[in-house]
Amino acid sequence: TFDLKDKRVVVVGLGLSGVAACRLLASRGAHVVGTDSKKTVSDDVRALEKEGVRLVLGGHAEAGLETADLVVVSPGVPSFPELVAAEMAKVPIWGEVELAVRAVNASAAAAGRALPRVVAVGGTNGKSTTTSLVGALLEAHGLKTFLGGNLGEPLASHADEAWDVVVLEVSSFQMERVDAFHPQVSILLNVTPDHLDRYPSMEAYAAAKGNAFVLQRSTDVAVVPVRDDVCIAQAKRGRGTIVQFGPGGDLDVTDEAVIDRASGVAYERSKMRLQGGHNALNVAAAIGAVRPFGLTPDTIRSVLASFEGLAHRMALVAEVKGVRYYDDSKGTNVGASVTAVRGVVEPKVVLIAGGRDKGGSYGPLVSALRDKGRAAVVIGEAADVIASAIGDAVPVRRASSMDDAVVLSSELAREGDAVLLSPACSSFDMFRDYKHRGDAFVDAVKNLSSRGVA
Ligand code: ADP
Repeated sequence: TFDLKDKRVVVVGLGLSGVAACRLLASRGAHVVGTDSKKTVSDDVRALEKEGVRLVLGGHAEAGLETADLVVVSPGVPSFPELVAAEMAKVPIWGEVELAVRAVNASAAAAGRALPRVVAVGGTNGKSTTTSLVGALLEAHGLKTFLGGNLGEPLASHADEAWDVVVLEVSSFQMERVDAFHPQVSILLNVTPDHLDRYPSMEAYAAAKGNAFVLQRSTDVAVVPVRDDVCIAQAKRGRGTIVQFGPGGDLDVTDEAVIDRASGVAYERSKMRLQGGHNALNVAAAIGAVRPFGLTPDTIRSVLASFEGLAHRMALVAEVKGVRYYDDSKGTNVGASVTAVRGVVEPKVVLIAGGRDKGGSYGPLVSALRDKGRAAVVIGEAADVIASAIGDAVPVRRASSMDDAVVLSSELAREGDAVLLSPACSSFDMFRDYKHRGDAFVDAVKNLSSRGVA
């Protein structure tokens, strides 16, 4: 049941998804308190007061969590005493995803519609790309598809629309607070170190991601990388049918094609807009995920021929004096940056890395740089840590701004090289977010070409 009328609900964290949760709850007749540790909030948050939401800002003590009927917590909000107390008092604690999927289902049931099917896309890297591709495939098949979650808009803002399918990018933080969340298809792309400043261990991080499998039944599908023990163990926490992607898997990946071994249909990689080995894996996972929906190979082919991926993911910015500049600002952990360095088609790379450290090791960069690195330019708070991890694998220089970093890189690169921004860190030390950082890189590259720097 999903009757929130006159219930007392506290929403913790007033970012995008928290605001959407407040609105949704208020529209269902709940008495909503929105709380945030920050004192100054956006106009969007202020506007909630007009919709009857009471705001408690600059702390949570006065929000009444322990006596609430329900608490909704935004992803990534660290635990605090009142939340622990609410947990002890057996107050249900949901994330926005749990709330929104319940609302979507309740709304469909009330209108006599079939419940939408849910596809969850998790993993350390490749989520946004794969989520968008799955969405594009299902749209092309003629299904009314919600695409969002961690990427784009929160589902809570679209709970009353008549969806056939809901495709959700889910972060580990979002999967911490699920309860009845039951995706008919759940993808776990990979698990490599990330957010170790927020999780006690890799196991805890993997387990959070694996929560998306727990309620799956045998008619459901769990999509995981072939021979990946960590991901397969998580999938086996539920009863979904396991579909493996990658070389030798059910969705096989070769140098030439992605092949669905169940049907024998091959999708040539040369005809896909998405390029690079990591993207072939993302494509394979996406094709595995849409298997239950019965798309024709032609529909899949036409989407693969046009889907070009998202900005700030290994995007070619420009070629200046024989050097190509790639923006991979979304490479925010070491696994992503290693993939990016290895994935660049040019034989040698000048890597720009650094930003806010997230507590993992930068060690995995060393062998990638030994193989493909020309030099590295380090920026931001993590500059020294990264420089010492790289050691003498390649020459390392420090830069104080993105402009500096790009000019330095242009001096270090030789004709035919790539300059790659793939920071292995979050952006919040110097930028608003990864987009802002990527845009700063693009601007710096443009300045370079207009200055004619060699
Ligand atoms: P996410 O939403 O999980 O951050 P994105 O699709 O935005 O993933 O891609 C982020 C970065 O991760 C890309 O820029 C690329 O460097 C890297 N990446 C993408 N797909 C994969 C993959 N399957 N395996 C490893 N790294 C990947």
